[in-house]
Amino acid sequence: MATTLLSTLSRRLDGKVALITGGASGIGQRSAEIFAQHGAKLVIADVQDELGHSLCQSISSATHNDITYIHCDVTNESQVKAAVEKALNSFGKLDIMFNNAGILGDNKFQLKDSHKDDFERVLRAVTTLFLITGVFLGIKHAAQAMISATNKGVIGGSIISTASVSGSLGGTGSYAYTCSKHAVLGLTRNAAVELGQFGIRVNCVSPFVVATPMAKQFTGVSEEVIEGVTGEIANLKHLTLKADDIANAALFLGSDESRYVSGHNLVVDGGMTIVNPSFSVLQQQN
Ligand code: NAD
Repeated sequence: MATTLLSTLSRRLDGKVALITGGASGIGQRSAEIFAQHGAKLVIADVQDELGHSLCQSISSATHNDITYIHCDVTNESQVKAAVEKALNSFGKLDIMFNNAGILGDNKFQLKDSHKDDFERVLRAVTTLFLITGVFLGIKHAAQAMISATNKGVIGGSIISTASVSGSLGGTGSYAYTCSKHAVLGLTRNAAVELGQFGIRVNCVSPFVVATPMAKQFTGVSEEVIEGVTGEIANLKHLTLKADDIANAALFLGSDESRYVSGHNLVVDGGMTIVNPSFSVLQQQN
Protein backbone atom coordinates (compact mmCIF):
# COMPACT_ATOMS: atom_id res chain seq x y z
CA MET A 1 0.00 0.00 0.00
CA ALA A 2 1.38 3.42 -0.95
CA THR A 3 1.19 5.33 2.30
CA THR A 4 0.56 9.01 2.39
CA LEU A 5 0.85 10.38 5.91
CA LEU A 6 -1.62 13.20 6.25
CA SER A 7 -1.62 15.80 8.99
CA THR A 8 -4.61 15.87 11.34
CA LEU A 9 -5.84 19.01 9.60
CA SER A 10 -5.89 17.44 6.15
CA ARG A 11 -7.54 14.19 7.27
CA ARG A 12 -11.08 14.51 5.98
CA LEU A 13 -12.67 11.49 7.71
CA ASP A 14 -11.18 11.82 11.20
CA GLY A 15 -13.60 10.40 13.77
CA LYS A 16 -15.79 8.73 11.16
CA VAL A 17 -16.66 5.06 10.82
CA ALA A 18 -17.11 3.62 7.32
CA LEU A 19 -18.29 0.29 5.92
CA ILE A 20 -17.20 -0.55 2.36
CA THR A 21 -18.73 -3.49 0.51
CA GLY A 22 -16.66 -5.07 -2.24
CA GLY A 23 -13.79 -3.53 -0.29
CA ALA A 24 -11.18 -6.21 -1.02
CA SER A 25 -10.44 -5.34 -4.65
CA GLY A 26 -10.38 -2.60 -7.27
CA ILE A 27 -12.34 0.57 -6.48
CA GLY A 28 -13.33 -0.74 -3.03
CA GLN A 29 -9.73 -1.54 -2.12
CA ARG A 30 -8.45 1.92 -3.07
CA SER A 31 -11.40 3.49 -1.25
CA ALA A 32 -10.51 1.52 1.89
CA GLU A 33 -6.87 2.65 1.67
CA ILE A 34 -7.74 6.30 1.01
CA PHE A 35 -10.54 6.44 3.64
CA ALA A 36 -8.07 5.03 6.20
CA GLN A 37 -5.38 7.56 5.23
CA HIS A 38 -8.02 10.21 5.95
CA GLY A 39 -8.56 8.86 9.46
CA ALA A 40 -11.67 6.68 9.08
CA LYS A 41 -12.19 3.55 11.13
CA LEU A 42 -13.20 0.85 8.68
CA VAL A 43 -15.16 -2.32 8.19
CA ILE A 44 -14.19 -3.96 4.91
CA ALA A 45 -16.87 -6.37 3.69
CA ASP A 46 -16.37 -8.79 0.81
CA VAL A 47 -16.63 -12.42 -0.24
CA GLN A 48 -12.89 -12.72 -1.01
CA ASP A 49 -11.86 -13.42 2.58
CA GLU A 50 -8.14 -14.00 2.11
CA LEU A 51 -7.75 -10.80 0.11
CA GLY A 52 -9.92 -8.88 2.60
CA HIS A 53 -7.94 -10.04 5.64
CA SER A 54 -4.56 -9.28 4.04
CA LEU A 55 -5.76 -5.82 2.94
CA CYS A 56 -6.91 -5.15 6.50
CA GLN A 57 -3.47 -6.03 7.82
CA SER A 58 -1.63 -3.91 5.27
CA ILE A 59 -3.86 -0.86 5.88
CA SER A 60 -3.65 -1.27 9.67
CA SER A 61 0.12 -1.46 9.66
CA ALA A 62 0.43 1.50 7.27
CA THR A 63 -2.03 3.82 9.02
CA HIS A 64 -2.33 2.39 12.57
CA ASN A 65 -6.10 2.81 12.16
CA ASP A 66 -8.79 0.46 13.45
CA ILE A 67 -9.68 -1.70 10.45
CA THR A 68 -11.64 -4.93 10.49
CA TYR A 69 -12.84 -7.40 7.88
CA ILE A 70 -16.11 -9.31 7.68
CA HIS A 71 -17.27 -11.89 5.15
CA CYS A 72 -20.43 -10.40 3.65
CA ASP A 73 -22.29 -11.51 0.55
CA VAL A 74 -24.36 -8.41 -0.17
CA THR A 75 -27.21 -10.48 -1.65
CA ASN A 76 -27.72 -12.06 1.76
CA GLU A 77 -29.74 -9.81 4.09
CA SER A 78 -28.54 -11.35 7.33
CA GLN A 79 -24.91 -10.90 6.23
CA VAL A 80 -25.48 -7.24 5.32
CA LYS A 81 -27.16 -6.70 8.69
CA ALA A 82 -24.23 -8.43 10.40
CA ALA A 83 -21.73 -6.17 8.59
CA VAL A 84 -23.58 -3.06 9.80
CA GLU A 85 -23.69 -4.55 13.33
CA LYS A 86 -19.95 -5.21 13.10
CA ALA A 87 -19.39 -1.46 12.60
CA LEU A 88 -21.69 -0.63 15.53
CA ASN A 89 -20.17 -3.24 17.86
CA SER A 90 -16.56 -2.49 16.92
CA PHE A 91 -16.68 1.29 16.67
CA GLY A 92 -20.01 2.39 18.21
CA LYS A 93 -21.59 3.94 15.11
CA LEU A 94 -21.73 4.01 11.32
CA ASP A 95 -21.17 7.33 9.52
CA ILE A 96 -20.47 6.19 5.95
CA MET A 97 -21.90 3.24 4.05
CA PHE A 98 -20.26 2.64 0.66
CA ASN A 99 -22.30 0.10 -1.34
CA ASN A 100 -19.63 -0.68 -3.88
CA ALA A 101 -19.75 -4.47 -4.40
CA GLY A 102 -20.64 -5.45 -7.93
CA ILE A 103 -20.10 -7.85 -10.78
CA LEU A 104 -20.37 -7.37 -14.53
CA GLY A 105 -22.03 -10.64 -15.47
CA ASP A 106 -22.20 -11.69 -19.11
CA ASN A 107 -20.89 -9.63 -22.00
CA LYS A 108 -23.81 -10.09 -24.41
CA PHE A 109 -24.63 -6.58 -25.57
CA GLN A 110 -27.10 -7.30 -28.37
CA LEU A 111 -30.82 -8.09 -28.40
CA LYS A 112 -30.29 -11.00 -30.79
CA ASP A 113 -28.13 -12.71 -28.14
CA SER A 114 -30.37 -11.70 -25.23
CA HIS A 115 -33.07 -14.32 -24.75
CA LYS A 116 -35.96 -13.90 -22.32
CA ASP A 117 -34.91 -16.90 -20.25
CA ASP A 118 -31.36 -15.63 -19.95
CA PHE A 119 -32.51 -12.14 -19.09
CA GLU A 120 -34.83 -13.45 -16.36
CA ARG A 121 -32.12 -15.76 -15.07
CA VAL A 122 -29.79 -12.81 -14.85
CA LEU A 123 -32.47 -10.72 -13.15
CA ARG A 124 -33.11 -13.48 -10.63
CA ALA A 125 -29.65 -14.61 -9.83
CA VAL A 126 -26.60 -13.36 -11.56
CA THR A 127 -26.10 -9.68 -12.15
CA THR A 128 -29.02 -7.34 -12.05
CA LEU A 129 -30.88 -8.68 -9.06
CA PHE A 130 -27.58 -9.03 -7.23
CA LEU A 131 -26.53 -5.47 -7.92
CA ILE A 132 -29.88 -3.98 -7.07
CA THR A 133 -30.45 -6.19 -4.05
CA GLY A 134 -27.00 -5.52 -2.62
CA VAL A 135 -27.44 -1.77 -2.89
CA PHE A 136 -31.02 -1.92 -1.54
CA LEU A 137 -29.99 -4.00 1.48
CA GLY A 138 -26.97 -1.80 2.13
CA ILE A 139 -29.06 1.37 2.08
CA LYS A 140 -31.78 -0.22 4.22
CA HIS A 141 -29.57 -1.53 7.05
CA ALA A 142 -27.18 1.43 7.08
CA ALA A 143 -30.14 3.82 7.26
CA GLN A 144 -31.64 1.92 10.20
CA ALA A 145 -28.33 2.12 12.10
CA MET A 146 -27.94 5.82 11.30
CA ILE A 147 -31.54 6.63 12.31
CA SER A 148 -31.14 4.72 15.61
CA ALA A 149 -27.96 6.68 16.35
CA THR A 150 -29.95 9.92 16.49
CA ASN A 151 -31.10 8.76 19.99
CA LYS A 152 -27.44 8.97 21.05
CA GLY A 153 -27.03 12.41 19.49
CA VAL A 154 -25.23 11.19 16.34
CA ILE A 155 -27.11 12.96 13.57
CA GLY A 156 -26.93 12.15 9.87
CA GLY A 157 -24.66 9.90 7.86
CA SER A 158 -23.62 9.42 4.26
CA ILE A 159 -24.70 6.51 2.08
CA ILE A 160 -22.83 6.14 -1.21
CA SER A 161 -23.35 3.53 -3.92
CA THR A 162 -21.32 2.72 -6.98
CA ALA A 163 -23.41 3.11 -10.13
CA SER A 164 -21.76 3.50 -13.56
CA VAL A 165 -21.96 5.47 -16.78
CA SER A 166 -24.23 2.51 -17.70
CA GLY A 167 -26.68 4.03 -15.19
CA SER A 168 -27.22 7.04 -17.48
CA LEU A 169 -26.37 5.75 -20.96
CA GLY A 170 -27.52 2.90 -23.14
CA GLY A 171 -25.17 0.71 -25.12
CA THR A 172 -22.31 0.54 -22.63
CA GLY A 173 -23.13 -2.79 -21.01
CA SER A 174 -25.40 -5.83 -21.21
CA TYR A 175 -29.15 -5.31 -20.81
CA ALA A 176 -28.98 -6.70 -17.30
CA TYR A 177 -26.02 -4.53 -16.23
CA THR A 178 -27.55 -1.39 -17.75
CA CYS A 179 -30.89 -2.06 -15.98
CA SER A 180 -29.16 -2.63 -12.69
CA LYS A 181 -27.07 0.54 -12.83
CA HIS A 182 -30.09 2.67 -13.84
CA ALA A 183 -31.77 1.13 -10.79
CA VAL A 184 -28.92 2.28 -8.52
CA LEU A 185 -29.79 5.88 -9.47
CA GLY A 186 -33.46 5.22 -8.68
CA LEU A 187 -32.65 3.68 -5.29
CA THR A 188 -30.33 6.59 -4.50
CA ARG A 189 -32.98 9.19 -5.31
CA ASN A 190 -35.78 7.41 -3.44
CA ALA A 191 -33.65 6.91 -0.35
CA ALA A 192 -32.37 10.51 -0.47
CA VAL A 193 -36.00 11.71 -0.40
CA GLU A 194 -36.99 9.48 2.53
CA LEU A 195 -33.83 9.88 4.62
CA GLY A 196 -33.40 13.65 4.28
CA GLN A 197 -35.65 14.14 7.32
CA PHE A 198 -32.96 12.39 9.43
CA GLY A 199 -30.08 14.42 7.98
CA ILE A 200 -28.85 11.33 6.13
CA ARG A 201 -27.39 12.01 2.69
CA VAL A 202 -27.64 9.44 -0.11
CA ASN A 203 -25.58 9.74 -3.30
CA CYS A 204 -23.97 7.60 -5.96
CA VAL A 205 -20.76 7.66 -7.99
CA SER A 206 -20.74 6.74 -11.68
CA PRO A 207 -17.38 5.68 -13.06
CA PHE A 208 -16.35 5.35 -16.69
CA VAL A 209 -14.03 2.38 -17.35
CA VAL A 210 -11.41 1.66 -14.68
CA ALA A 211 -8.89 -1.15 -15.27
CA THR A 212 -9.73 -3.08 -12.08
CA PRO A 213 -9.54 -6.88 -11.69
CA MET A 214 -13.23 -6.98 -12.72
CA ALA A 215 -12.60 -5.07 -15.94
CA LYS A 216 -9.55 -7.22 -16.74
CA GLN A 217 -11.49 -10.43 -16.18
CA PHE A 218 -14.45 -9.19 -18.26
CA THR A 219 -12.37 -8.04 -21.23
CA GLY A 220 -9.63 -10.68 -20.97
CA VAL A 221 -6.97 -8.07 -21.72
CA SER A 222 -4.31 -6.26 -19.67
CA GLU A 223 -4.61 -3.01 -17.76
CA GLU A 224 -2.53 -1.25 -20.43
CA VAL A 225 -4.81 -2.42 -23.25
CA ILE A 226 -7.98 -1.43 -21.35
CA GLU A 227 -6.56 2.01 -20.60
CA GLY A 228 -5.36 2.43 -24.19
CA VAL A 229 -8.76 1.58 -25.69
CA THR A 230 -10.59 3.65 -23.09
CA GLY A 231 -8.26 6.59 -23.75
CA GLU A 232 -9.21 6.43 -27.43
CA ILE A 233 -12.94 6.78 -26.72
CA ALA A 234 -12.62 9.09 -23.73
CA ASN A 235 -13.64 12.72 -24.02
CA LEU A 236 -10.96 13.97 -21.61
CA LYS A 237 -7.54 13.35 -23.12
CA HIS A 238 -4.04 13.23 -21.56
CA LEU A 239 -5.40 11.62 -18.37
CA THR A 240 -6.22 8.02 -17.44
CA LEU A 241 -9.09 7.20 -15.11
CA LYS A 242 -7.84 5.25 -12.07
CA ALA A 243 -9.55 3.60 -9.10
CA ASP A 244 -8.14 6.48 -7.01
CA ASP A 245 -10.34 8.94 -8.90
CA ILE A 246 -13.48 7.03 -7.89
CA ALA A 247 -12.22 6.57 -4.33
CA ASN A 248 -11.59 10.33 -4.10
CA ALA A 249 -15.14 11.03 -5.33
CA ALA A 250 -16.46 8.70 -2.61
CA LEU A 251 -14.15 10.43 -0.11
CA PHE A 252 -15.77 13.77 -0.99
CA LEU A 253 -19.27 12.31 -0.62
CA GLY A 254 -18.35 10.68 2.69
CA SER A 255 -16.74 13.80 4.14
CA ASP A 256 -18.36 16.90 5.60
CA GLU A 257 -17.21 18.86 2.54
CA SER A 258 -20.31 17.49 0.79
CA ARG A 259 -22.56 18.13 3.81
CA TYR A 260 -25.41 19.60 1.71
CA VAL A 261 -25.11 17.20 -1.26
CA SER A 262 -27.83 14.54 -1.44
CA GLY A 263 -29.64 12.65 -4.19
CA HIS A 264 -26.68 13.35 -6.48
CA ASN A 265 -25.08 11.15 -9.13
CA LEU A 266 -21.40 12.15 -9.17
CA VAL A 267 -20.30 11.12 -12.65
CA VAL A 268 -16.54 10.49 -12.89
CA ASP A 269 -16.18 10.07 -16.62
CA GLY A 270 -14.20 13.03 -17.94
CA GLY A 271 -17.37 14.29 -19.60
CA MET A 272 -17.94 11.12 -21.62
CA THR A 273 -21.68 10.95 -20.94
CA ILE A 274 -22.36 14.51 -22.12
CA VAL A 275 -20.71 14.13 -25.50
CA ASN A 276 -22.81 13.50 -28.58
CA PRO A 277 -20.25 12.03 -31.00
CA SER A 278 -22.49 12.87 -33.98
CA PHE A 279 -21.43 16.50 -33.68
CA SER A 280 -17.72 15.71 -34.02
CA VAL A 281 -18.38 15.59 -37.80
CA LEU A 282 -19.42 19.26 -37.70
CA GLN A 283 -16.36 20.20 -35.65
CA GLN A 284 -14.07 18.43 -38.13
CA GLN A 285 -15.68 20.37 -41.03
CA ASN A 286 -14.89 23.75 -39.39
P1 NAD B 1 -13.57 -5.63 -8.58
O1 NAD B 1 -13.98 -6.97 -9.07
O2 NAD B 1 -12.14 -5.28 -8.59
O3 NAD B 1 -14.14 -5.41 -7.11
C1 NAD B 1 -15.46 -5.80 -6.78
C2 NAD B 1 -15.44 -6.44 -5.42
O4 NAD B 1 -16.79 -6.83 -5.12
C3 NAD B 1 -14.59 -7.71 -5.37
O5 NAD B 1 -13.69 -7.67 -4.27
C4 NAD B 1 -15.61 -8.82 -5.19
O6 NAD B 1 -15.13 -9.92 -4.41
C5 NAD B 1 -16.72 -8.09 -4.49
N1 NAD B 1 -17.99 -8.82 -4.61
C6 NAD B 1 -18.47 -9.48 -5.68
N2 NAD B 1 -19.63 -10.08 -5.38
C7 NAD B 1 -19.88 -9.78 -4.08
C8 NAD B 1 -20.93 -10.10 -3.18
N3 NAD B 1 -21.96 -10.87 -3.57
N4 NAD B 1 -20.89 -9.60 -1.92
C9 NAD B 1 -19.85 -8.84 -1.52
N5 NAD B 1 -18.82 -8.50 -2.31
C10 NAD B 1 -18.84 -8.97 -3.58
O7 NAD B 1 -14.42 -4.59 -9.45
P2 NAD B 1 -14.50 -2.99 -9.47
O8 NAD B 1 -14.30 -2.60 -10.88
O9 NAD B 1 -13.68 -2.39 -8.41
O10 NAD B 1 -16.06 -2.81 -9.18
C11 NAD B 1 -16.56 -2.09 -8.08
C12 NAD B 1 -17.87 -1.42 -8.49
O11 NAD B 1 -17.61 -0.47 -9.53
C13 NAD B 1 -18.93 -2.37 -9.04
O12 NAD B 1 -20.18 -2.02 -8.50
C14 NAD B 1 -18.89 -2.10 -10.54
O13 NAD B 1 -20.11 -2.40 -11.16
C15 NAD B 1 -18.58 -0.62 -10.54
N6 NAD B 1 -18.04 -0.10 -11.78
C16 NAD B 1 -16.84 -0.53 -12.25
C17 NAD B 1 -16.36 0.01 -13.44
C18 NAD B 1 -15.03 -0.44 -14.01
O14 NAD B 1 -14.75 -0.10 -15.17
N7 NAD B 1 -14.22 -1.17 -13.27
C19 NAD B 1 -17.07 1.00 -14.14
C20 NAD B 1 -18.28 1.42 -13.61
C21 NAD B 1 -18.76 0.87 -12.42
